[in-house]
Amino acid sequence: MHTPATTPRFRFAPSPTGSLHVGGARTAILNWLLAKHAGGTFVLRVEDTDVERNVPGAEEGLLDDLRWLGLDWDEGPGEDGAYGPYRQSERAPLHRAAAEELLQGGLAYFCICPPSGEGGGDRRERCGCAVVPYEGAWRDGASVRFRAGDEPVVVRDAIRGEVVFPAGSQEDFVLLRSDGRATYNFAAAVDDGAMRITHVVRGADHLNNTPKQVAIHAALGRPVPIFAHIPLILGPDRQKLSKRHGATSVGEHRRLGFLPEALLNYLSLLSWSSESGEEFLDREQLIREVDLERVGASDAVFDPEKLRWLSHRHLQGLPAAALRERAEPYLGEAARALGPRLADALAAVQERVSTLSEIEAELKAFLGPRTEAHAAAREAIAADRATVEMLGAAANRLERLDPWDAAAIGAAFREVGKDLGFRGRALFHPLRVALTGEEHGPDLARIAFVLGRGHATSLLRLDGV
Ligand code: GLU
Repeated sequence: MHTPATTPRFRFAPSPTGSLHVGGARTAILNWLLAKHAGGTFVLRVEDTDVERNVPGAEEGLLDDLRWLGLDWDEGPGEDGAYGPYRQSERAPLHRAAAEELLQGGLAYFCICPPSGEGGGDRRERCGCAVVPYEGAWRDGASVRFRAGDEPVVVRDAIRGEVVFPAGSQEDFVLLRSDGRATYNFAAAVDDGAMRITHVVRGADHLNNTPKQVAIHAALGRPVPIFAHIPLILGPDRQKLSKRHGATSVGEHRRLGFLPEALLNYLSLLSWSSESGEEFLDREQLIREVDLERVGASDAVFDPEKLRWLSHRHLQGLPAAALRERAEPYLGEAARALGPRLADALAAVQERVSTLSEIEAELKAFLGPRTEAHAAAREAIAADRATVEMLGAAANRLERLDPWDAAAIGAAFREVGKDLGFRGRALFHPLRVALTGEEHGPDLARIAFVLGRGHATSLLRLDGV
C-alpha cells in the first residue's frame, strides 16, 4: 500500500500532438491555480506514448505556451522531482512492472488474439486466453488485458457527483499492447498512482475513461485520486469550439497580441466564478479565490469579446515601461519612424487598444498625413473658407502656446472653437483631418503634441494643399 501524499498534488498531462488549445490551457490553469491555492504541487507530465500521434516540436511548443501564460511546474520536464521521469515514454519499465503485478495477482492475463480490439479493447466476449494462468514468464508478442469486474463502477466526481457505470459496461481492456507499449488508460492510471497524484482535474471528454482508471488504481491497491471533470468549451453557437470560431490556440492569441494575464484571467472565469463576483482578476487574486466547489457542471461558452474586454483592462494597468517592452515584438515601421516620440505616442494610444498588435496601426496617426486618400481628405476641408480660417487661428494659437503640452493644446483648440463658433464635430473633424488625414483616431491634442509645434502648425495651415 502506498502512503498517501501529505499535500495535494495536481497534474496537467498534455499529449504532444499539436499546439496548446484554449481547452487544454484552461485545464492547465485550473490545476495550477488549485495547486498554488492549496500550497500543493503542480506536476507536468508529457503523455507521449502514442507515437503515431506525436508531432515533432509539439512538446517544446506546449512548454513554451505554458510558460508564456505564466504557469510554472514544480515537477516535470526540466524540473526533476521525486516521482520522475515526467515523460511518459520514459516510464515504460514502470508500466510493465505494474502489468506484471496485475498478472501475478490474476487481475490481468496475456492475450494472443489478433490485435483488432487492442486500442480501445472494445471486446465484450472474454477469449480463451483469459483462462490461461500466469506462470511467471513474460510472453513476448502477447498483449496484456485487464480482467474487468462485472459489478457497476462508481466514479465519484467532485463536479458531477456520483457517476455510475452499470454492471457489464467494462470490457477486458488492453493494458499493454503486443509490442509492449502501455495504452493511455493504463499509463495514465499507473503514472497518476506512482506520482501520488491526489486530484485529477481534466476535461469532461475523459469521464468515460475514468471507470477503467479507477479499476486500475483499485487493482494496484492504490488510493483513488479525487476526479473532477470540467465541462467542455463551446463556441458562441454552442457547438464544440473549433477553428471556425476563430482563434482557438494559445499561440494564436499570443500572435494576436493578447496579454497572457488576460488569457489566464479569462480562461479561469470559464471554469469558475469568484465569490465576490469580480471578473477582472490578477494571478494573485485568482490563486486566492479559486475554488473547485465553484466549478460548474454546465458547458462554458467562449466569448472572444469578453476576452478582448479583459485584455483591454489588463493593458490599461501596464506602466509605460512595461507597455513598451510588451509591445516591442508587435511594433513596426510606424514605431520606428516615431523614434524618441514613441513613448508619448504609446501613452496616447494605450487607452484605445485591447491587444498589443493593435498599437502599430494606431501609431500611424502620429506621423501626419501620408497617403493619397489623406491628401484628398485635406483638400476637401480646404474648400471651405471658414474652416480654413478656423484652422489658421488654431495654428496661430499653437505657435504662441506656453507651456507646450497636450492639456494646453486641448484647451487652445476649444478656445478657438468658442471664439469662432465651431462646436463638436464641426470643430474636431477638420482639425483631425488637417493633422492626420483621417476621420478617427487617438486624442487630437496628444497627436498635435507628438507631431511637435512646427509640424502641427504647418499641417493646420494646410501647407502644401
Ligand atoms: N494526455 C491526455 C490528453 O491530452 C490527458 C488526459 C488526462 O488528463 O488524464 O487528453
